[in-house]
Amino acid sequence: MSQATQTKTQSTAATFRALKCKECGTEYEPKAIHVCEFCFGPLEVAYDYSEIRRRVTRESIQAGPHSIWRYREFLPVDSDQPIDVGTGLTPLVQANRLARRLGLNKLYIKNDAVNMPTLSFKDRVVSVALTRARELGFSTVSCASTGNLANSTAAIAAHAGLDCCVFIPADLESGKVMGTLIYSPTVMAVQGNYDQVNRLCSEVANTHGWGFVNINLRPYYSEGSKTLGYEVAEQLGWQLPDHIVAPLASGSLFTKIYKGFREFVEVGLVEDKAVRFSGAQADGCSPIAQAFREERDFITPVKPSTIAKSIAIGNPADGVYALDIARKTNGTIESVSDAEIVDGIKLLAETEGIFTETAGGTTIAVLQKLVAAGKIDPDETTVVYITGNGLKTQEAVQGYVGEPLTIEPKLDSFERALERSRTLDRLEWQQVLV
Ligand SMILES: *Cc1c(COP(=O)(O)O)cnc(C)c1O
Repeated sequence: MSQATQTKTQSTAATFRALKCKECGTEYEPKAIHVCEFCFGPLEVAYDYSEIRRRVTRESIQAGPHSIWRYREFLPVDSDQPIDVGTGLTPLVQANRLARRLGLNKLYIKNDAVNMPTLSFKDRVVSVALTRARELGFSTVSCASTGNLANSTAAIAAHAGLDCCVFIPADLESGKVMGTLIYSPTVMAVQGNYDQVNRLCSEVANTHGWGFVNINLRPYYSEGSKTLGYEVAEQLGWQLPDHIVAPLASGSLFTKIYKGFREFVEVGLVEDKAVRFSGAQADGCSPIAQAFREERDFITPVKPSTIAKSIAIGNPADGVYALDIARKTNGTIESVSDAEIVDGIKLLAETEGIFTETAGGTTIAVLQKLVAAGKIDPDETTVVYITGNGLKTQEAVQGYVGEPLTIEPKLDSFERALERSRTLDRLEWQQVLV
């Protein structure tokens, strides 16, 4: 009772009240903790949806900032001044040429390859995590990263004036390493795979009192991915799609798009609808796809070996929840080879003018596989999530994209080169035809 009167007079108070164990339901104060003390289940943010319903309308959201913070009431922060570096509201592109190529009728690309400030969907989760980190009093922030997360954490920490130390596997693509170093954080390149980096970071989190965005701040961090659900619903004209296809690393993003859609239904912003959830992994790191295929309820960890390094998590924390969502929504989780990933990157670039990284190539290749297997109805409104930018993983396509034609600064040199390239094109076509 007194709670209700309090929230009415203080309409900017937080709409979240606790962290709640996903397994046993035990509630905790919203501090920097991420596992249940009783059953070791993951903690998740719990909201007061009747309060959100009272505060939020389609119009109030549209009048908000041009960033993820237009959905502030659905995010776990107290502050009226969240860290806003323009993250979110990335384009939802109607992908007609790719659709025609695949035989689909209503295909959309949610293009987080151009997210701000570091060109991946991770800017969403980090904007939320660092806002919360500041509220909880952390002065040093950190993360265990497959690459993109280190870019985001370092950049947004620089903007917010927080000290930053990030941990990455030592064998990352040079674009990912440079895209972190430029912000001058401390960078630890760990000689091991992501799962080993993550284990080390759990130990550091216990001893150093730092805010690890994807460890002790994970309940807040992961909520940032819900905005990929909200934006698609808003950009489709306040409707849910029929089918989504998204990449899976830890599986968190996938589960949070689902949570975002369910919350919009819960507070009355969109009509309820059955949305199918399909997930994408690389063959070289496909523990969730394997469990799906073998109809298991548990994940068997694997040792990653794939060019899709940003999604190479062998022991995915939210794997079982992602499995559950794919199954109950009548979706699929598939995996593709490294060669198919490269083809996927090229296909998206050639048909839509979007240069994605290996995770996006994985998602496009899985989309193609699902269409070929009849698992996507051509008339379903299908949204494919492209989560990262190809300029960061140039190694993956080196040798697969041809060469520029080097010419002298003379008209006849240009004409000869043009003729030669047309002949080559014809020869290639003849090879395709035979
Ligand atoms: C981290 C990442 C993902 C997936 O993240 P999870 O939430 O751990 O499943 C997908 N794509 C890109 C480009 C990423 O960097």
